[in-house]
Amino acid sequence: MTFSDFGLKEPINKALENIGLEKPTQIQEKVIPLVLEKLDVMAKAQTGSGKTASFVLPILENFLNNSYEGKAKVRVLVLAPTRELALQVSKTFEDLSKYIKKRPKVVTLIGGDDISQQLLDVQQGRDIVVATPGRLLDIISKKQINLSFVEYLVLDEADKMLDFGFQEELDLLLEQIPSKRQNLLFSATYPEKVLEIASKITKEAKEVFLEEKETVELINQRAIKVNSENRSALLRHLLKKEKFEKVLVFMATNRAADNLAAKFRKYGFNAESFHGHLDQEERNYTLEDFKNKEIDILFSSDIAARGLHIDNITCVVNYDLPRSPADYVHRIGRTARAGKSGNAISFLTLENYEHFKLIEKRSNINLEKEEIEGFELKGTPQKKKKGEAPVKGKRKSKKDKLREARAKKENL
Ligand code: AMP
Repeated sequence: MTFSDFGLKEPINKALENIGLEKPTQIQEKVIPLVLEKLDVMAKAQTGSGKTASFVLPILENFLNNSYEGKAKVRVLVLAPTRELALQVSKTFEDLSKYIKKRPKVVTLIGGDDISQQLLDVQQGRDIVVATPGRLLDIISKKQINLSFVEYLVLDEADKMLDFGFQEELDLLLEQIPSKRQNLLFSATYPEKVLEIASKITKEAKEVFLEEKETVELINQRAIKVNSENRSALLRHLLKKEKFEKVLVFMATNRAADNLAAKFRKYGFNAESFHGHLDQEERNYTLEDFKNKEIDILFSSDIAARGLHIDNITCVVNYDLPRSPADYVHRIGRTARAGKSGNAISFLTLENYEHFKLIEKRSNINLEKEEIEGFELKGTPQKKKKGEAPVKGKRKSKKDKLREARAKKENL
């Protein structure tokens, strides 16, 4: 199947051609016809599955079939959990509408950016709003936005919005938009709370739960034993030897990310750090540079683990291991996107060795524990103490709640 089989209009096909997309992904094959038929959709989709284009393309097509004269009214509302994801969704709308004559106007309403400019844009009239819930509610409370013409409500990565007290926010939002509308819900997982949201917002939604080949299968996962203090040298060694191009390195703390990026710059690498303590502009610049290959290595906190679309990351490195197995999968999923293969390397130290075994168990993997000549592990891995739970359980600890509250403050 190719995109031309959907019978989309000429400007949209031209945009697809321009971006170089030919074959729809599985999720696109299923979701696009349903949206074109004006049905509600509830899809299970990971980042990297092509889910963004699966709603952007048919929405644009429907727009073309049904254009209005006069000042733009908000007809599409997309909610996304993070600023970065919102920006990426907006960019997909921009890219795919490039050749439409009366091009729909898009605004991204996110925290961290100047609210007065966003208000100005809204006042001038926008067809498509892509927003994080916090900022949108802020603007709603200022009575600066009219959402009574919304025809499409899209919830992107719904499971990631749950953490942020989203359900109450959603209720407030639903009061603002017409009850007759098309609803599209995308979520990588479907815990009880997402199902509740789905039943609240969607009507007779068509479910798209694909038995797709896990992205994970396309990733060459490796675990390398190394003493903690030798990780930086080993990373330099691997970068030189394996000639990975775009490398995303996950670190436990923002400060460690800054320090290591500085250290690697001294060694002559194009390295930068990326985390929640940078302001939005810095984050945008850094991401752009990484996407454009002006940065080769990005040292990042977990902020980059979810929802970021960066093509052609050839390697993800767990310099520090993630706390939970779910985060392990999210992190390594930054590589091997849209059907391409990728590498994921985890450094196993004396301190985290046992923790990795738990990650393996929960992720159903069992990797060979490699050693690299010159960097062999010395010492005996620390045993887990009885009663200690290094892997995050289902219930959130106080620390997790604080972390979430902080993330919310930083993100929205
Ligand atoms: P998403 O799942 O929306 O996060 O998309 C992930 C990446 O896949 C984006 O960078 C898209 O440019 C790319 N992509 C989307 N659709 C396709 C496709 N049909 N073929 C190849 N790449 C695609």
